[in-house]
Amino acid sequence: MKFGPYSVPFPAIVMTAGVVTIALIFAFWPTGLSDSLDIVKSFNLDDSTWQTVKVDAQGRIVRVGTNPVTLGAFIGLIGLCIVGVCASAWQLFSPSSRPKVAPAVEAASVTRAVAAAAAPKAAEQMMMKVESAGLKLEGELATVLKLLQMQLGTSERYSDVLDDANDKLPGATSIEQVERIVELLVTENLRVRNEVTKLKRGLETSQTQIENLRLSLNQVEEEGTIDSLTWLKNRRWFDRNGPKQVSQAHEDNTNMSLVMADIDNFKLINDTFGHQVGDEVLKRFSELLTTNIKGQDSAVRYGGEEFTLILPNTQLSGARQLTDSIRRTLETKRWMDQKTGRPLGMVTASFGVAQLRGGEVLSELVSRADAKMYEAKRSGKNRVVCDE
Ligand code: GH3
Ligand code: MG
Ligand code: MG
Repeated sequence: MKFGPYSVPFPAIVMTAGVVTIALIFAFWPTGLSDSLDIVKSFNLDDSTWQTVKVDAQGRIVRVGTNPVTLGAFIGLIGLCIVGVCASAWQLFSPSSRPKVAPAVEAASVTRAVAAAAAPKAAEQMMMKVESAGLKLEGELATVLKLLQMQLGTSERYSDVLDDANDKLPGATSIEQVERIVELLVTENLRVRNEVTKLKRGLETSQTQIENLRLSLNQVEEEGTIDSLTWLKNRRWFDRNGPKQVSQAHEDNTNMSLVMADIDNFKLINDTFGHQVGDEVLKRFSELLTTNIKGQDSAVRYGGEEFTLILPNTQLSGARQLTDSIRRTLETKRWMDQKTGRPLGMVTASFGVAQLRGGEVLSELVSRADAKMYEAKRSGKNRVVCDE
């Protein structure tokens, strides 16, 4: 709930209302029970507070008796307030019930400042997750090391006992002596078995913990490859996975095409309508890319207002068709500054397309697509140029 510039959580309001109600009940209850509405007297909480009273002609208090209905209502009301206060306190302070960070910055009203502030925050959270996972991993490895050292000690002791038995056994002259040695061996064997069971359990626990850590590190890694404005894959993802996809295409002897896209006159959009509107255009353009690709295709924010499509199993002709369909959809879109209602005019983009050649590496493919994209810019923008 908003109070001027301050935003107060709803549970905090319920809590405060509960506490105030309890205080008011204590303050005014005696007044309600007595016939005379003497507020000052009402604060004297003597035993008449809990009874219905009357004041007789001489001004003396006449106790009529405890009123079960009012007493019940009194306890009920207080109870209700206490439950309200406790529930609100739980909502307010329990970590699981705190509102989660919004997963996507979608609303058109989100300012560039908010988006810019969210990015370092996300990076900071990611670093904290990595640090915490690293510390936990160190702890787990130390535990495993300790367990192994303990096991080593146990094995050494067992080996000493066996050596000892080996020395003593040939010299044993009586059945009692042999029995003692065997007894010692049995006891030691039992001890070793217990130790091994403990070690096995400890290692199993550590294995589970390490597996959990691995999963959370995978999640962090995944988060680090997503662009926080457009939610497309980012350049980091491209640099890591692009070469693998190229190698895979060579290995499987399949086609692959790559598209470089750059929004036309984007600086002008920023300069005329503001960065906030520019951000919206980036988001909508990204959505257009995502909705037009399928299966193994990937849409990547390469940087700024530049995007890449990786299209496995796609020949140049197919890539050209897809890209031109995206270009046409973009040019027919009607754009408007949602705040002012002012039309933005046409938003267009230029595209360069290239198909992977035998033995080519990713950087070479990117260079060829990029060169074609610049050719599209030079020849008038809002067009698709393919490297035939
Ligand atoms: P061209 O048609 O030749 O591509 O011209 P252009 O104006 O699109 O290209 P230019 O490289 O001159 O400008 C790109 C602009 O994109 C400059 C930069 O401030 C802006 N930009 C980069 N990243 C973002 C972003 O995340 N949000 C917004 N709003 N603007 C961005
Ligand atoms: Mg550019
Ligand atoms: Mg541009």
